Amino acid sequence: MAQLHHLGFPRIGNKRQLKFAQEKFWAGEITEDQLQATAAELRQSNWIEQQDFSLNLHTVGDFSLYDQVLDTSFLVGNIPTRAKQSGEDNRLGNYFRVARGRSQKSSCCSAVNHETGETQAGEMTKWFNTNYHYIVPEFTQQTTFSLNANDLLKQIEELQKINENIKPVIIGPVTYLWLGKEKDNSNKLELLPDLLEIYVELFALLAEKGIEWLQIDEPILVLEINNQWQNALQIAYQRLQQSNLKLLLTTYFGELKDNLQLACELPVAGLHLDAINARHEVEPAITYLSEDKVLSLGVINGCNIWKSDLNGILEWLTPIHHKLQQRLWIAPSSSLLHVPVDLQSEHKLDPEIKSWLAFATQKLQELSLLGTALNNGITSVIAPLEENRLALQNRRNSTRVSNPKVQSRVAAINASLGKRKQVFKQRAALQQSYLNLPNYPTTTIGSFPQTNDIRATRRAKRLGEINEVQYKNSMKESIKCCIDEQHQIGLDVLVHGEAERNDMVEYFGELLDGFAFTQFGWVQSYGSRCVKPPLLFGDVCRPRAMTVEWASYAQSLTEKQVKGMLTGPVTILNWSFVRDDQTLQTTCNQIALAIRDEVLDLEKAGINIIQIDEAALREKLPLHRSKWPEYLAWAIQAFRITANGVEDKTQIHTHMCYSEFNDIIEAIAAMDADVITIETSRSDMQLLDVFEAFNYPNAIGPGVYDIHSPNIPNIEQMLQLMKKAAQRIPAEQLWVNPDCGLKTRHWQEVIPALKNMVEAAKLLRIGG
Ligand code: GLN
Ligand code: ZN
Repeated sequence: MAQLHHLGFPRIGNKRQLKFAQEKFWAGEITEDQLQATAAELRQSNWIEQQDFSLNLHTVGDFSLYDQVLDTSFLVGNIPTRAKQSGEDNRLGNYFRVARGRSQKSSCCSAVNHETGETQAGEMTKWFNTNYHYIVPEFTQQTTFSLNANDLLKQIEELQKINENIKPVIIGPVTYLWLGKEKDNSNKLELLPDLLEIYVELFALLAEKGIEWLQIDEPILVLEINNQWQNALQIAYQRLQQSNLKLLLTTYFGELKDNLQLACELPVAGLHLDAINARHEVEPAITYLSEDKVLSLGVINGCNIWKSDLNGILEWLTPIHHKLQQRLWIAPSSSLLHVPVDLQSEHKLDPEIKSWLAFATQKLQELSLLGTALNNGITSVIAPLEENRLALQNRRNSTRVSNPKVQSRVAAINASLGKRKQVFKQRAALQQSYLNLPNYPTTTIGSFPQTNDIRATRRAKRLGEINEVQYKNSMKESIKCCIDEQHQIGLDVLVHGEAERNDMVEYFGELLDGFAFTQFGWVQSYGSRCVKPPLLFGDVCRPRAMTVEWASYAQSLTEKQVKGMLTGPVTILNWSFVRDDQTLQTTCNQIALAIRDEVLDLEKAGINIIQIDEAALREKLPLHRSKWPEYLAWAIQAFRITANGVEDKTQIHTHMCYSEFNDIIEAIAAMDADVITIETSRSDMQLLDVFEAFNYPNAIGPGVYDIHSPNIPNIEQMLQLMKKAAQRIPAEQLWVNPDCGLKTRHWQEVIPALKNMVEAAKLLRIGG
């Protein structure tokens, strides 16, 4: 009998109940007990729902009030000293203080800042190649550990009331250390022996609770780790082997490559492999694994939203099942944290598209079906398997999915599409003769404050409360207002302000063919923040112009240049749930051609400067560095296809907020945008070092205004930042602008801040 389990389930709730409870708690509107009660209800309802899926092991420990890595820090007692409230036992307060920089809005007696109740929040970073972000553990020479298992034990007791056969999940010690950062010049690996003793202590408590199996996640096994880290894994599992628990070592998000044999030989009771991304490693794994070990295969994709090909999986899995028998476990490939909760909640989604999809709940249904087919024979599930086959067939053959025109356009892509006629230096001279900009030109990144009025107008349009004409008039009013303000501020290159956009990807997705949108397809990005990625299901094309009317209207109001504003193909791709039936490159090229058409239409309409935002360029960099060049090659080519069809006199800008260019600077240069604006203010311009070292040839706008903060930077601060920039980059290559869009800020902050920025630029022009 194959055993069924999963590695983790979304915790936000099908209606984002957790988010709302968290935010109410932070606002002081509900008590800690009420927050905990909501959390317990969510766990309960998840478990009860999961009883339908004939799971052999029930997962606990996948819930979190903020983040599972932060939970691990608290589990092992690694809490930054600055967040510990002296005296009082305020565990949850400390927890949120590390997560958010403060516990509750009204909280006052922080260890660090008595006036605002704020401490510095823990750093947040991307969880492998997903859009989830975790709180980075902090280590110093002084780091010590102590076990705090109460939360986990409490959840285990909760689940034990409902089910037998419970499998807690925790992050493994080596991955935990890997994910953290040394805050001094200590070596975090030296903490391993002490940390292991905490795990040993925990295991004893779990064994006392009657736990047999423990899922221990070591996803760093899918990364390129050096000998030291490989040794650390060996040391760790030698030590942990001495407990009474059976460990299921889990890996996900990719292939193990050089770590495969190591993973198979670690002294644990079972290994989980991602059989979606690393299916070809399953066979060698079976030969490496000793016969007393369980092999858990992640056969349902835990990161996408498509129905699985159940018949195909069974065909592949059945012989493996025959060979392994009860040693075979099956599960989704990763935690289901990265997909929306339940397709059932979607009442407005086009039924045809809906029939192709599976969210977390449906993925467990699929798993259950596979289990029944393997254990009771295919004949017991003929009908649902046939239904699955038909759904996949419909999707493959649907005219909604394929558009032959788009396909032939993509097939005809050649290098010349991505090339401008002259090199940057010549273009720059030509552009200057048209644009006539001063030195240190000033501009913004696109969006201006999204006021309540603007949001209300968009909402009214969505609900059909106002008609198209009323909507357009109202938006044009906002544009006019925005242009007027920019005149008064004295900016050189203006923007229309993006009032019409709810989100930089969703806006374009809604206007392009090939995208669908859910009502409740939320996925946790961090803490209480959830995103609702568009579903990219079909060939992408642009039925009509998407931004030209707004940009032209803005341009008609001013003698100054208005910069057209678009989202780039890689960002649209990386922030959507994308197709699994063609390569990412093909999908990206389709988006590129659609946005290219928009670029050319803007140019035709007299817009001389066009910005193509690629905020998410880095997001899907492969986990293995060896695959970076391939990804970057097609991603950059897609950007070039989008941008480079214009005349040389048209100036192309790009914008990337997420800093860190060191390892991709060549790719950035290959984009060949005339101007790149980046987020630099917090790094004190250090991010420019790599541009300097590389001799980056084109123009750069290093952000001088930190838009994440309500603070209004003064002239001197921005002047100093620009002077630092000018030490690294020749003045004639520099622009002056904020770090990012201003949509989350208020006009009262933005106007004085930008006025100061313009003053700083003026001072720079006369030599500071
Ligand atoms: N043009 C967008 C804006 O200003 C860019 C946002 C982003 O890069 N995240 O809002
Ligand atoms: Zn940005």
